[in-house]
Amino acid sequence: MAGSPVEWGKDRPAQSVRTCIGCRQREPSAELLRIVARHRESGSPGFAVVPDPRRRLPGRGAWLHPVSACLRSAERRRAFGRALRVSGNLDISALEQYLENRHEHS
Ligand SMILES: [Zn+2]
Repeated sequence: MAGSPVEWGKDRPAQSVRTCIGCRQREPSAELLRIVARHRESGSPGFAVVPDPRRRLPGRGAWLHPVSACLRSAERRRAFGRALRVSGNLDISALEQYLENRHEHS
């Protein structure tokens, strides 16, 4: 473990930085959870907000700290619809469940 200190983050291409839609803080995207809006099952109007931890789902995404405080403030400010460009009913229960499960394991 010898060697010169490496200056991370100076000359390297910057990691992408995203803004949490809950608290509006800018973070490296690795710190944030990607979320996307998906059409609900046919017959149900509106959209569902789902977590996309692997960042593979198509469509417009938004970013959120994976904590309930940021979920709540995004919900209160109606940031989901704005960030995801959808209107109408937004079902965030899948996201809530995802965050709850995370907490159980930590
Ligand atoms: Zn946040």
